[in-house]
Amino acid sequence: MNDTTPTTSEVGRRRLLGAAALGGLGLAVGLPSGHARATATPSRVPVTERRERAVVIGSGFGGGVTALRLGQAGVRTLVLERGRRWKTGPDSDTFCRMANLDGRSSWLTTESQFPGVPGTWEPYTGVIETVHGDGMTVQCGSAVGGGSLTYHGMTLQPSEEHFAASMPMMADDYTALKSWAYPLVASMLRITTVPNDILAADPYRSSRLFLDTAADAGLDTFRVPLPIGWSYVRGELAGRYTPTYTSSDLTFGVNNGGKHSIDVTYLAFAEGSGKVEVAPLHVVRDLALDKQKRWVLEVDRIDTGGVVQEHKRIIADAVFLNAGSPGTTRLLVKAKAKGLVPDLPDAVGTQWGNNGDRIYLWLQMDGDPGRPQGGPACVGGRVPDSPIPYTVIHSGSPMLPPDGTKLMTLAAYGIVDPTGTWAYDTTADDAKLTWDPAGDADLQTLIRERMNELARVGGGMMVDQDAQGPSTWHPLGGVPMGDAVDRHGRVHGHKGLYVLDGARIPGSTGDCNPSMTIAALAEHSMADILRRDLRRVF
Ligand SMILES: Cc1cc2nc3c(=O)[nH]c(=O)nc-3n(C[C@H](O)[C@H](O)[C@H](O)COP(=O)(O)OP(=O)(O)OC[C@H]3O[C@@H](n4cnc5c(N)ncnc54)[C@H](O)[C@@H]3O)c2cc1C
Repeated sequence: MNDTTPTTSEVGRRRLLGAAALGGLGLAVGLPSGHARATATPSRVPVTERRERAVVIGSGFGGGVTALRLGQAGVRTLVLERGRRWKTGPDSDTFCRMANLDGRSSWLTTESQFPGVPGTWEPYTGVIETVHGDGMTVQCGSAVGGGSLTYHGMTLQPSEEHFAASMPMMADDYTALKSWAYPLVASMLRITTVPNDILAADPYRSSRLFLDTAADAGLDTFRVPLPIGWSYVRGELAGRYTPTYTSSDLTFGVNNGGKHSIDVTYLAFAEGSGKVEVAPLHVVRDLALDKQKRWVLEVDRIDTGGVVQEHKRIIADAVFLNAGSPGTTRLLVKAKAKGLVPDLPDAVGTQWGNNGDRIYLWLQMDGDPGRPQGGPACVGGRVPDSPIPYTVIHSGSPMLPPDGTKLMTLAAYGIVDPTGTWAYDTTADDAKLTWDPAGDADLQTLIRERMNELARVGGGMMVDQDAQGPSTWHPLGGVPMGDAVDRHGRVHGHKGLYVLDGARIPGSTGDCNPSMTIAALAEHSMADILRRDLRRVF
């Protein structure tokens, strides 16, 4: 256990402190069951004001790239991140494990938000926020480094055709993205595919079985590029570290380190520039434009239990929204509905999609997938020449099924019509998502057919895990390019306001996981923004 992990006694102390503080603070209303959010009585909490040249909200893929490129250009930059910093390394106990869920898993909830994995706890600033919408549940990162702490690391570049189908207005930029932006991200994150010796090891039996069956079912199979130092996996295979990779116990963070996440790559380099300060546990509540046309941020500094310690008003020349698709969209929908930023585009809160995500469990297939099953998700397959783009990736299962049960987890996705919208909810002072399933109906039919074809070839049966309630790890859109921002993320009609994260991508990233494209687009846009706006706008 490292020095930042909450111990039982610390949680107990926090409970007492939290109870005392909450007596004066009260809990916010309107949040879904299991969520807690502390709000502050202004008289009790110190208020400070601070002037900044550039502020980045959020420290995931968009935020990490933005911060580094601003810092390298000599721009003093403050990164406001609601989550905490997590340090990990070989054999650490930084993150909670699937078999023993605790508050480190979840953003300020009192109970598990993960179906089939129970748990209750005191509110804690854990690594994943669950956002409940109408017709869709979204899970997204809430830590320094954003979703990169909890993502498997599947780092895929879409084909030109599928990229253009997802983002028609960027079609002409694909050549530039392919020639330098995607390769730059790949080198920053030190991307490689699973080496032969690891794929041949016993815990990767399920990956090998998937590759064989998928090929027999007519899919083009491939190894997934990943930001992983494979020596850490070898350390587990040699018995030197407690299994994390080799048991796929990765959903709440990688305890053995070796993952080139944004906090230890882009953000670390940004801080190394000497120009960038990262402020964890800083929640941006509101964004406004004042009479002098300056950007004003209302920010709460919280403790790891979510209790407000300080209120800050931060005034900036430029604000780079990188709070992720849900976070950025919620801030802008609020600002528009409350009149905090006049004349925001009508498209704010529209063109949201789930990247076509669907999770299937494959049960009782022929052959033995083994247990435990190694990860991260390192092998996949695509349908050659399909009219509907479709990719399926095999992910080792972190759950040990009952004896005699054979199980594999498969994640599939494609390109969707971004039919999701976000609307302001006065009671919660927040924006809420509504998803129209027409957006991915055709794709889901194809996915179901493809999964059944795998089972026909490889035996057993497929269970659609999302059938009862669709969910996604890949939220995209809400502040779409073209209608709300320009090709480089400049919000229409508002100098010095930028959106550089997944919120500007309308619904899908071209039949692959989104992080690579979010980061590459941020690189591409920052080059343009620094060329045209530096010393003119900020
Ligand atoms: C469990 C899981 C597994 C995944 N696996 C993969 C994968 O293998 N490959 C892949 O490509 N993608 C994967 N993803 C998706 C990927 O993580 C996201 O697409 C990506 O992180 C989005 O990047 P972003 O820059 O848009 O936002 P994020 O990385 O989500 O960063 C946004 C940041 O903003 C912060 N923030 C939000 N609101 C506020 C606020 N009001 N004030 C201050 N800070 C705020 C958040 O805490 C967060 O750190 C996975 C996601 C999850 C949840």
